[in-house]
Amino acid sequence: MIKFCVLLAAILVLVSSTPKSGISRADDLVLAEACDASASGISRADDLVLAEACDASACSLPDCRCMSTDIPGGLDISEIPQIVLLTFDDAITALNYAYYEDAFFTRTNPDGCPVQATYFMSHEYTDYSKVHDLHARGHEIALHSITHEPYTAYWDELDVEGYIAEFGGERDIVSHFADIPEDDIQGIRIPLLQLAGIRIPLLQLAGNKSFQALQTIGMKYDCSWPTQSYMDPPLWPYTLDYKSEQDCPIGECPTASFPGIWVQPMVNWRDTSGYVCSMVDACIFVPTETDEILEFIKTNFHRHYDSNKAPFGFYMHAAWFQSNPNNYEAYLQFLDYLESLNDVYIVSIQRALEWVQNPKSLDEISSVWSSCPATTEASCTSTSCALDKDGEARYMVQCRNSCPSVYPWLNNPLGV
Ligand SMILES: [Zn+2]
Repeated sequence: MIKFCVLLAAILVLVSSTPKSGISRADDLVLAEACDASASGISRADDLVLAEACDASACSLPDCRCMSTDIPGGLDISEIPQIVLLTFDDAITALNYAYYEDAFFTRTNPDGCPVQATYFMSHEYTDYSKVHDLHARGHEIALHSITHEPYTAYWDELDVEGYIAEFGGERDIVSHFADIPEDDIQGIRIPLLQLAGIRIPLLQLAGNKSFQALQTIGMKYDCSWPTQSYMDPPLWPYTLDYKSEQDCPIGECPTASFPGIWVQPMVNWRDTSGYVCSMVDACIFVPTETDEILEFIKTNFHRHYDSNKAPFGFYMHAAWFQSNPNNYEAYLQFLDYLESLNDVYIVSIQRALEWVQNPKSLDEISSVWSSCPATTEASCTSTSCALDKDGEARYMVQCRNSCPSVYPWLNNPLGV
């Protein structure tokens, strides 16, 4: 907040002290007053409004939706698309880009548009020329923090400004070094927890703080919140205008109202022994043979497809492909299976929310998605920059002609 306030005060002084001649006179200067945090756009805890029970008559699409397992728009299951969300967490590298190219680049949805994935990317080790390329092909780039700090206490203790530095700062990094429009970046996922070096299968929320940050930096949705109670039938996306009844398996859930901020729930999967997991690579009991892995995936998919068709999230890290080649083979076969179903659409989370905001039957789907996801000619001339991070070398591939002076990081996202 201090940084925002100093900046705001500096701008105010500068604007008010610059006469047409361009020369400031001492008597034109306005004394900077004590910073008013509400004027800087950062919500303080005492500005928050407690969310009330959802009033369906006052909360309607496209910008408000109560938490619910009901199909949006009151449509019947037989007439709506089954949306599938393929997401990947962590760094985008040349190594995992090869999997994405092989898996997605030639597949299409029933409307003829290319399938899309969503990448919750972390900063370190990311190749920004690959980020540029994925965005140019119409995939969605979303945020997973700068530091990707693995310790619970860090995210617990981080304040709203800290969340803004992590996610607003990462948006600056991505936009600048991958050369993509800032407004195309709309979603976040808080990093997965690790306790004592062991990844636990659930994510943790940070109460109101991350949602305050999301709202302050003008982003649209969060995809960090797992649900175990709303798996069957599964939960649809909703907004935080009103109180959410979604279960909070770990961490602190938001209590305040955040109008227009969407939750894309992480509806848990169930492994072959019945344990739940919010990301497939965190599931404990998963078969190792391709046929059985495919059945495991399809069983989880059909919990959505056969009940209310809430978007089916296939959330993972590319490392899952590397841990067993059969995982990747089963993944490809599952995509083949989806392509055989003429009501399945594999789209980005942003595009999925467009449908939820404006739900239409399969017959009218072109009125929701009037064109294919925007693609552009990739225009990144990549430069590899050798930089130092705490005494270790980092090679950052990025789309600017010149390298940053220092390794981009928290509170210095452009590395100046
Ligand atoms: Zn991660």
